[in-house]
Amino acid sequence: MPRASTLRIARLAALALVLIVIIYKVTNPSSLTTLSRAAGYHEKLASSPGPEQKAPVTSGDKPAAPAKEEVKSEEKPAVDAKTPVDEGKDYIRANATFVTLARNQDIWSLVKSIRHVEDRFNRKYHYDWVFLNDDDFDDNFKEITSSLISGNVKYGKIPKEHWGYPDWIDQEKAAEVREQMRQKQIIYGDSISYRHMCRFESGFFFQQELMKAYKYYWRVEPDIILHCDVDYDVFKYMEKNGYDYGFTLSLYEYIDTIPTLWNSVKKFIKEHPEHIAENNLMKWLSEDNGITYNRCHFWSNFEIGNLDFWRSKAYGDFFEFLDHEGGFFYERWGDAPVHSIAAGLLLPKDKVHFFDDIGYWHVPFTSCPTNKADRLKLKCSCNPTDNFVWKGYSCTPRYYDVMEMKRPSEWHQQS
Ligand code: GDP
Ligand code: MN
Repeated sequence: MPRASTLRIARLAALALVLIVIIYKVTNPSSLTTLSRAAGYHEKLASSPGPEQKAPVTSGDKPAAPAKEEVKSEEKPAVDAKTPVDEGKDYIRANATFVTLARNQDIWSLVKSIRHVEDRFNRKYHYDWVFLNDDDFDDNFKEITSSLISGNVKYGKIPKEHWGYPDWIDQEKAAEVREQMRQKQIIYGDSISYRHMCRFESGFFFQQELMKAYKYYWRVEPDIILHCDVDYDVFKYMEKNGYDYGFTLSLYEYIDTIPTLWNSVKKFIKEHPEHIAENNLMKWLSEDNGITYNRCHFWSNFEIGNLDFWRSKAYGDFFEFLDHEGGFFYERWGDAPVHSIAAGLLLPKDKVHFFDDIGYWHVPFTSCPTNKADRLKLKCSCNPTDNFVWKGYSCTPRYYDVMEMKRPSEWHQQS
């Protein structure tokens, strides 16, 4: 064969090969998916979350579908299915966000909390974070927080109706109370802003525009520590188990801040028996079947919960009733006892969950996983002798009893 025609055949063969490869790429769906996913991932990597809001990763009322089972082979899938760490780019999150109420001047206390949450949990999951303030957040606050958070970050200003006196409150009477509480040296007793904060956290955080897209939340305050790795997706864990409220610490409330709260609660129970859940946690809240309050409450600076519970008719009626009683201003009702009594009475007790595996600190109390094996597995930094959970002023032992839960084997070493 002449040389020229051999060359022509070779060129034609090369061209045919290129064509075959192009046709394969266009018609093979899995190779296309791979390409587009990779592109999407790089877009995500390239765009750092800025102060301006991005759409939440999952939206709508329905939580995202649970992830494929990715239980590691050596682990037996537990009944309560803790979804393990998933660093994959296609991870499907629950419909959830962190939420923090803060002022601009809280920034340096807050960065520490954010680093703990990111390092121990969120760097693996990239959940969103909503910041709320009664004032405008400044650029410094936005720049620093958004640089630290691996999910989308959003900043909301609380409307005036959610941070102020309702019109039925006598402000002179409220001022007299503050003066009396100042003289009695009751903590935050003379503070106006603290009262607005407590009322906001009780009745309005879940109603904010930015929160409407979400179903689950994790409340984070400035200056907290996460002592241990959180090695599973806590939001999916809440979802899979049908939990509506999760806590790490519980204790007795300072009675001078809530002298008439329980009376108001009893009036509410009479007026709205339809909202009181069967099989609730009344035994945890009261030692005489509801006559008096034992002051047990979940410490609400940490909460992982279902926003739909706070948005329910039952809780809406409960908050509105308490709000009209006036105790947010004429006493100093905290959002902790208000949330706790609601979770304790309006929910069946199996909707409330104690996170015994989340090592946590907010001044002045620590929760630390009770058993050594858990502390080692989760790389905890807490000293077990500081664990408040089994100490005399904690209400968590009572919670275990009421729930008929078996205490972890090493609990008495920490009591
Ligand atoms: P404590 O934990 O009871 O001592 O109260 P904190 O001072 O930690 O306040 C509880 C939460 O409300 C924290 O997230 C604070 O950042 C926030 N907070 C308290 N007061 C105000 C306020 O006046 N404005 C705003 N925007 N946030 C506040
Ligand atoms: Mn605090």
